[in-house]
Amino acid sequence: MSRREFLRNMGATAVAGGLLGASQVPRADGASGPKIGYFDPPGGPLADRLDRPWEMTEEEWTEIIGRVQPGRSLKPPHWPQRSRFAVALSFDCDHEVGSLAGGNFAPGPLAWGERGRRVGVPRILDVLRRHEVPATFYVPAVASLIDPEETRRIVGDGHEVGLHGWIHANNSQMDRITEREIMLRARDILEKTSGTDVVGHRSPSFDLSPNTIELVAELGLEYDSSMMADDSCYELLVNGKQSGLVEVPVEWVRDDAVYLSFSRSGARPWLSPNDVFGIFKAELDAAAAERDLFQLLMHPHVIGHRSRIWIIERIIEHAKSLGGAWFGTHAQVARWVRENATVDS
Ligand SMILES: [Zn+2]
Repeated sequence: MSRREFLRNMGATAVAGGLLGASQVPRADGASGPKIGYFDPPGGPLADRLDRPWEMTEEEWTEIIGRVQPGRSLKPPHWPQRSRFAVALSFDCDHEVGSLAGGNFAPGPLAWGERGRRVGVPRILDVLRRHEVPATFYVPAVASLIDPEETRRIVGDGHEVGLHGWIHANNSQMDRITEREIMLRARDILEKTSGTDVVGHRSPSFDLSPNTIELVAELGLEYDSSMMADDSCYELLVNGKQSGLVEVPVEWVRDDAVYLSFSRSGARPWLSPNDVFGIFKAELDAAAAERDLFQLLMHPHVIGHRSRIWIIERIIEHAKSLGGAWFGTHAQVARWVRENATVDS
């Protein structure tokens, strides 16, 4: 297997976790599978020798690694109301938009996504309402245009909505001008529909171009939630300089789609809900013991099934039973750590 094939497979694995149909995203070079920016430096002297990584110079890897880096940890000494640990639940409302972005227009896959809107979101809102827990919903702008009422219902229940692309396309497929335009348009739609200021960003499929974080900062957003460099929140550096952004980190290990999203095309473990709950609970227990953040990512079309929705409920109940839990939106978490984190650098 050549390095290019290896990287392509890595990309397909990475993208397959979060949405519908992304593996069908056509690549500019005609090959199948998504083009993943962080594996595939666009243009430049490296473009023609990705299969010869031993030729990479120190100057080149330093430049690539330095584009976006984790800065100092923003783990706070305590959480609001002197709470011991924080719980931040998030739901990526990809719905049928992932299929649209992947060129998969068949009614079957579209219906699979629509289940997220018809069944998943109402069940999730019901659980959150009964337990009086706020959460963050990342909504592609097109999903909000298809059903603006859903966006308004989410905000009406006291939750946050955050940016999740225009049509759930990979940012690394776009040049800087296009990516900026798409991001601005998406924010305008979400703010108009929700009637709130949108301050957070999660990249569709966690796919970031070399420009994404800089653009998120340029738009004046407060945080990103697409990267995995730490369990604690951290500041984001762009080309070695502070971007002003907080990273509220995600992880595949805390993503429901990794364990529960069936895929015909690729090998993927499909775990029982009990196993998934066990993994999430272990992450939660450890975060509480470390007086840190437990962040969780779920998808309405994945977690919203009759046999799975209880996972959210049990996680909330377990967090409350530990004592000292504070539940916040990702925006509230980002603001708290920015203002209260210990300077330890
Ligand atoms: Zn998504």
